[in-house]
Amino acid sequence: MTGIEIYKRLPKTNCKKCGFPTCLAFAMKVAQKQVDISLCPYLSEESRKILEAASRPPIRLISIGNHNKIEVGNETVLFRHEKTFYHQPGLVVRIKDTQPLNDVTQLVNKVTNYSVDRVGIELRLNGFALVNESRDAEKFCKLIKTVLDNSDLPIILMSAEPATMNLALQKTSQNNPLIYAATRDTWQDMAQLALNYHCPLAVSEAQGLSQLAELTKLVSQKGVEDIILDPGILDSSNSVDTLTQLRRLTINGSYRTLGYPIITFPCDSTSSIEEEALLAAQHIAKYAGIIVLDHFSPETIYPLLTLRLNIYTDPQKPIQVATGVYPINNPEDNSPLAVTTDFSLTYFSIAGEIQSSGLPSWLLVCDTGGLSVLTAWAAGKFNATQIAKTVKQFDIPATINHRSIIIPGYVAIIKGELEEELPGWKVMVGPREAMDIGRYLKQNWVN
Ligand code: SF4
Repeated sequence: MTGIEIYKRLPKTNCKKCGFPTCLAFAMKVAQKQVDISLCPYLSEESRKILEAASRPPIRLISIGNHNKIEVGNETVLFRHEKTFYHQPGLVVRIKDTQPLNDVTQLVNKVTNYSVDRVGIELRLNGFALVNESRDAEKFCKLIKTVLDNSDLPIILMSAEPATMNLALQKTSQNNPLIYAATRDTWQDMAQLALNYHCPLAVSEAQGLSQLAELTKLVSQKGVEDIILDPGILDSSNSVDTLTQLRRLTINGSYRTLGYPIITFPCDSTSSIEEEALLAAQHIAKYAGIIVLDHFSPETIYPLLTLRLNIYTDPQKPIQVATGVYPINNPEDNSPLAVTTDFSLTYFSIAGEIQSSGLPSWLLVCDTGGLSVLTAWAAGKFNATQIAKTVKQFDIPATINHRSIIIPGYVAIIKGELEEELPGWKVMVGPREAMDIGRYLKQNWVN
């Protein structure tokens, strides 16, 4: 719907309750999918229904699991810079029921306990895809039990046999697993299982997008609402084509039949751990909802988690740390004081370097709206006035017994102004790069 079409259905009282000065301004934001229609409390029931249906996200939000659940979908744009991507793809590790159970237990514990901290955010893997490779229901159930006994991460149940899937769901439906998959041959049985156990269902069709749409339509007409699409095994170039077409059809073409998240298997179209990681990276960027990996190795998982974090942060909202003074390595009142901005990447780079130097220090963080040092300085948000204000705001003279402050080398130009703003203080110009701060402190700090 255009902004004008939405405007026609609004009360047109300009009451501002939605946070916008006029109904027209609100309508324009709704049309751009930047705000939700529910912000207007005065819509008639009829208008609400029509506008909610029109403003529903083109890709349905699907949840898998209960604890640490995977939530994917609800995306509204083709490119991240147009707005943001909302729900980062789940990265799951595939385990087959032909693998020895001792190995499975070890792998499950490693994957479940793997966690890295990046810019103050904990990054983790999201679950397991459990494969009935043996076609033996008992072996499949043993694998599922072993995984659930050792992990609370979500699971995907992969079996070609509806009877085996039924047995597995009897024991796991409370975990809200993803059922994989409804195919041309099994869709009626698999869809019935999804309805019986209230679990999401993957629809798999590798013949082409028209065929995938036909099969998905059949499954949804049977009453299944929570669907994940599997367009088949895709190599690198097929992935870009197919996944981009799927996203375009749903976002630009409003083609609701394919308006669901996508599952991909880089593990099936690559022959080494490095290739698998490269293809998974491509799928993170465009446009997978769940990515199934065969390998767990911190050397490839960490870059994938970092890439995912970068792509799925809101480009309009920098990741920030709270303004304040941070103690590092148990500082005392004669320890050095350095100052920086509240952009997370800047803060954690400097804090990390100081920490690894082992030198006790204070790090003062100024409110710059999440900008890095040079950007904040250019925007007038990291200058002598702002730093002096932050020194007073956090009563730094009461924390330390000296009057020296180290500013980043990139803003050496503000040294004189800061000395005027903080009479009696010695302003020291630190290094330009965070990696040099430890050496700088060892060579220059005397108190
Ligand atoms: Fe218009 Fe509704 Fe916003 Fe009031 S709350 S200004 S009626 S859109």
